[in-house]
Amino acid sequence: MTAKDSVLYPPERLKTVADAVGANGLDVLLLTPGPDLRYVTGYDAKQLERLTCLAVPAGTDPFLLVPALELKAAQASPAADLGVEMVTWGETTDPFGIIAGRVGDPHSIALADRMWALHVLAFERAFPHASKQLASSILSALRMRKSAAETAALREAGEAIDRVHKNVPKWLKAGLTERQVGARIAEAILAEGHVSADFVIVGSGPNAASPHHEVSDRVISEGDVVVVDIGGTMPSGYCSDCTRTYAVGHAPDEFTVYYEVLKRAQDAATESVRPGVTAESVDATARGIISEAGYGEWFIHRTGHGIGLETHEDPYIVEGNAIPLEPGMAFSVEPGIYPGPHGARIEDIVICTDPATGAGYQRMNNVPRDLVIV
Ligand code: ZN
Ligand code: ZN
Ligand code: ZN
Repeated sequence: MTAKDSVLYPPERLKTVADAVGANGLDVLLLTPGPDLRYVTGYDAKQLERLTCLAVPAGTDPFLLVPALELKAAQASPAADLGVEMVTWGETTDPFGIIAGRVGDPHSIALADRMWALHVLAFERAFPHASKQLASSILSALRMRKSAAETAALREAGEAIDRVHKNVPKWLKAGLTERQVGARIAEAILAEGHVSADFVIVGSGPNAASPHHEVSDRVISEGDVVVVDIGGTMPSGYCSDCTRTYAVGHAPDEFTVYYEVLKRAQDAATESVRPGVTAESVDATARGIISEAGYGEWFIHRTGHGIGLETHEDPYIVEGNAIPLEPGMAFSVEPGIYPGPHGARIEDIVICTDPATGAGYQRMNNVPRDLVIV
């Protein structure tokens, strides 16, 4: 484990998780490869049909079950420094039987949120008497409150995606298709330090009014509004996500009017962030401004989502989520207005901070939010 890994994925986290398993009255937590496993161990394991699984039983030592052919990879990962026993299984043994042999007949188990159904159903057969719940029932409370090292990793991700947005005006040209522009942006996401470009939305013209449009062969033309929402995963495992809206040549007049409303809403919602404010009230702040200006029916999604090892995770910034924000919580603030034949969204990742250190929030994205005419 590098020094940086040990700060981002502290070895003592496994103990914290084991304590939480017991404290929640759970018999065993089972984590297959994905963000939950990486959070607990630092091991960025491949998701395969062959079972890799961290078992964290209440009261006894955790162990990491790995296919024999993955052992070297597991030993080379930060998981090697946790002092956790690695148990291998060969091609002809039943890995679920090995886990059952060690943990017995539990009454309650929790499974990684992103576990494949292939493994969920096998655990169902291995532990027929156990009630099943999601690992997030234990881990979400931990993952939501980012450490200083995680905040730094999100800042690094934010800076990387900001560098991409700074160059978007160079690539966004009338005559090119969304797909061509998107390909250039995807290259830049990697060139700026991400290990993967997770999504590239280039929504031009009417496609700007479809929030999760990705790219198409539509040719971008003069007078188009273009929503560019992009993000990737950094070597740290932490994700970026940032949206800016551009106009090619000039912007339609009616568009400029609601873009200003949107910018005001995004600013006000961001500035409302501080400890104790609820997630839903941040949504209400953005929605209130947009509704008051008469565009409420065109703001068709929640204001934001948490971000960390996953692009979308707790806490969700949405009506009905009364969780009070705490320092270290990281999420997007991304209101949008989509009346057609165009639309707009502005998105930054924001971290709730202790007001004693300044404001109650910090933005991880700092490229200007004014409409950029390219
Ligand atoms: Zn989205
Ligand atoms: Zn987002
Ligand atoms: Zn986004």
